[in-house]
Amino acid sequence: MKSSVSSLRCRCSSATLRSTATRSRRYVSTSSSSSSSSTSTSASATTPTTSPKTRWLAITLVSIAAAGAGAYIRSQTPNSATLNQETFTKYSLVSRDPVSPTSSLFTLRPRYHSDGNYDVYEEAWRTGVWSVMFKQPQLQIGRDYTPLPTTAATSLSVDEENEGYLRFFIRKDPFGEVSRYLHTLEPGADIEMRGPQIECSIPEETREILFVAGGTGIAPALQAGYSLLNRTSKENRPRIHIIWASRLRADCVGGVSDTPKAPAASSSRSWFSGWFGSSSSASVSQSETVGPVSQDQEQSLIVRELEALKSQYPGQITVDYYLDEENRFIGKNDLAEFIKPTKEVEDQETRKLILVSGPEGFISYMAGPKVWAQGTELQGPLKGIIKELDPKGWAVWKL
Ligand SMILES: Cc1cc2nc3c(=O)[nH]c(=O)nc-3n(C[C@H](O)[C@H](O)[C@H](O)COP(=O)(O)OP(=O)(O)OC[C@H]3O[C@@H](n4cnc5c(N)ncnc54)[C@H](O)[C@@H]3O)c2cc1C
Repeated sequence: MKSSVSSLRCRCSSATLRSTATRSRRYVSTSSSSSSSSTSTSASATTPTTSPKTRWLAITLVSIAAAGAGAYIRSQTPNSATLNQETFTKYSLVSRDPVSPTSSLFTLRPRYHSDGNYDVYEEAWRTGVWSVMFKQPQLQIGRDYTPLPTTAATSLSVDEENEGYLRFFIRKDPFGEVSRYLHTLEPGADIEMRGPQIECSIPEETREILFVAGGTGIAPALQAGYSLLNRTSKENRPRIHIIWASRLRADCVGGVSDTPKAPAASSSRSWFSGWFGSSSSASVSQSETVGPVSQDQEQSLIVRELEALKSQYPGQITVDYYLDEENRFIGKNDLAEFIKPTKEVEDQETRKLILVSGPEGFISYMAGPKVWAQGTELQGPLKGIIKELDPKGWAVWKL
């Protein structure tokens, strides 16, 4: 995903290892089959008087032993070591580091080695925004989480990348089943996941994205930026503008907005207050905290990731921060600056994309609620402040 040259080099070396292993397996099976055939020949020559009953008994015993050995081997072998959409694949928690009072960075690696993960991830990164489903084993329920792209800021080593490490930015919901469970796990614990699930495929012709993110909705924004800007070439310099609303300064410490803003609008209502219940949106309850956060950080992890993208693609990405704690909320005027109606014709709509991601209330406020029909979550009609801005020439997608 990250440094393609080094990754390719590593992929080649693992392919070499694979072919060596295949060769040696072939050699072993050839020699064993020849020895077994010679053994059976000599056995039949020396025991001509075995009765049919004894022979059947021997066959039965051998079959039972083989079936038992097969079952044992199957029970010890993972269903699939490669991330896939049908079965859950075991990952192992490498580390869980608090990045703010309420959220942590989870680093996971596949429990069993698989050469296939690289290609599965690569395809998903190329496509756009994707997630995986984590399983809570006691309750047998699943929740979706968004892998963070690897930028220069906190890059994985070539070995980590090659071994299929994934990282997640996860907020602990004090009343949430899965996020609370994940925050009880210690390094070495197993986490089962399924995916990748493509949440939004970014069309090749996309030239501009406005990403409106609330809370951990910043993880898909990083993905979209990574995927879009990776397509940069001499002829194509796509741009992304990210507007990120956080509840706490700690989530975005060190982040400085690129667009000069109007004074804080203290009368505006926070979407987070609705989502988190009646408690003050900017206060953190004891049950919500995830552990001590390193105090020497000048920039939060997510801000470092965003800054890394900026320095990698100068002039192609801008970020504006809005903070509940400081009574700064995203309003219609803030979006109007970016959603200027264009004269582009209909079939060019996908050149400009508005993506909205975050808590339900946040998405509803921005673009109207998603709806459920026949067991499927649908986009629902465009409403909210984005609809009021009449975004002609822009396609809108709620994540
Ligand atoms: C595509 C996608 C990607 C995502 N990526 C991330 C990510 O990268 N990081 C991240 O942190 N999150 C992400 N999420 C959100 C994540 O999937 C979970 O929704 C979140 O972690 C909460 O799950 P939970 O099981 O902890 O909480 P839940 O148990 O689902 O509860 C959520 C809240 O609802 C309340 N609640 C539950 N049941 C009821 C009820 N019957 N009545 C009233 N209130 C109720 C709970 O009190 C709690 O406050 C993503 C979601 C999607 C859809």
